[in-house]
Amino acid sequence: MKACNYIDGQWREGERPSSIHNPSDLDELVGTYPLSAPSDAEDAIAAARKALPAWSRSNIQVRADILRRAGDALFARATEIGTLLSREEGKTLKEGVGEAQRAAYVFHYYAGEVVRHPGQWYDSLRDGHNIIVSYEPVGVVAAITPWNFPIAVPAWKTAAALAYGNTVVLKPSELTPGCAVLLAEILEQAGLPNGAFNLVLGDGRALGQALIDGADAVTFTGATPTGRNILQLAAPTMTKVQLELGGKNPFIVLDDADLDVAVEAAAQGTWGQTGQRCTGSERIIVTRRIHDAFVERLAKAASAFKVGHALDADTQIGPVANQPQFDKNLRFIAKAKADGAELAAGGGPVEARSRGFYLAPTLFINTTNAMELNREEVFGPVAGVIKVEDLDEAIAVAADCELALSSGIATTSLKNAERYRRASTAGMVMINAPTAGLEYHVPFGGRAPSGFGGREQGAASAEFFTEMKTAYVNHGVI
Ligand code: NAD
Repeated sequence: MKACNYIDGQWREGERPSSIHNPSDLDELVGTYPLSAPSDAEDAIAAARKALPAWSRSNIQVRADILRRAGDALFARATEIGTLLSREEGKTLKEGVGEAQRAAYVFHYYAGEVVRHPGQWYDSLRDGHNIIVSYEPVGVVAAITPWNFPIAVPAWKTAAALAYGNTVVLKPSELTPGCAVLLAEILEQAGLPNGAFNLVLGDGRALGQALIDGADAVTFTGATPTGRNILQLAAPTMTKVQLELGGKNPFIVLDDADLDVAVEAAAQGTWGQTGQRCTGSERIIVTRRIHDAFVERLAKAASAFKVGHALDADTQIGPVANQPQFDKNLRFIAKAKADGAELAAGGGPVEARSRGFYLAPTLFINTTNAMELNREEVFGPVAGVIKVEDLDEAIAVAADCELALSSGIATTSLKNAERYRRASTAGMVMINAPTAGLEYHVPFGGRAPSGFGGREQGAASAEFFTEMKTAYVNHGVI
């Protein structure tokens, strides 16, 4: 077991080892990483707390320079990180390198935010007074992240938290620890003071309580049931909580859609990154007159994707990331069939040059919004088509879902697009674009139970990562 926990500037071992295998080739060991004990999480929180006074008051140019250097290193090492990401999570190399570059852009963005972040100054209702509103760090932030974006999500939580003067304990998914170890290495080399960033590897079920009890704020990305659990764990201490959770995102195709645009957006949104995106399109809602033509082309697009080893140059869709996820996908497929849905593409495992979790891009038609396939998040390369009469019915079906993260519509009518933009209950709306594929400089997130406690990314992330202070000043000058 390598010493991969990074606590107070020291590389430390955990409690016991855990082996990570490549989902493209189950015979290949990617690495052995520690699973940590709650006491490791407590040590990391203590280190972050010790580092907080100095980091929160650090010179903003110094802070910005460290974040910028981390971004530079992420760019310089993007191929190395992307390759590891492909080996531990199964994204294609292009997707993996792209994700590493995105993490780099995020650090550069927040390097700028350090010096851009404003306060406010008000005239007072009282003569001789004014009012200053300033934003202070929340304190020690615990960041708990999922396996599906193993470098981007840790980066966007860590960069934002550090930019606003917080110290961090990152607990990445136990299924994809490698990229987070590289991030810790990069932050160390960028000159971050000891304890400002700490890494604890392991299972959140074992470490969650210690992190939540010890931190001032917890930013979590993962499944909705886990998010609910974290919210409950945080209630006794009233630890500030931000949750980025699951999606069951609808993509509407109207009769007036440009078919090329609609098929491309639906195919990318549904099967890109093996469908393992919280913003992926899982419910494709299509109006009656365009339905057959659209479905025929989308099924062809699904079947045309080359599924294979994530590191092969011609692979377009990598394997499913892990065994539990693979099994879950197969259960959804079996249940959809049993419920009467009809397969238009895929529907089962496919062979590749190595033993891995390869699943064909799968499309069901003749589904209803009441089927389990369309109600629960699959989080894989599996989607259902729901036929509707018109935009009114499409809006109603799209909204008839507990989750409300992203949504999309394909239409050539500005009026229909604007109607949907206003009507959608989701946190993000895409017009003639895939439901997935988001940018780092604007708010990201959904409404509960897809999101809770303030948006991430862009300047909006300051809402969670800072606390407001209102100061009334009697300066005596009229
Ligand atoms: P998960 O909820 O199983 O695990 C996420 C993290 O939580 C892991 O680090 C895990 O160790 C930890 N964890 C588990 N139980 C915990 C507990 N009781 N206390 C504290 N931590 C705990 O999710 P996953 O399977 O890794 O990721 C897939 C899910 O993430 C999907 O539902 C997907 O939609 C969601 N997701 C959401 C976004 C978003 O921004 N909205 C982005 C990516 C993924």
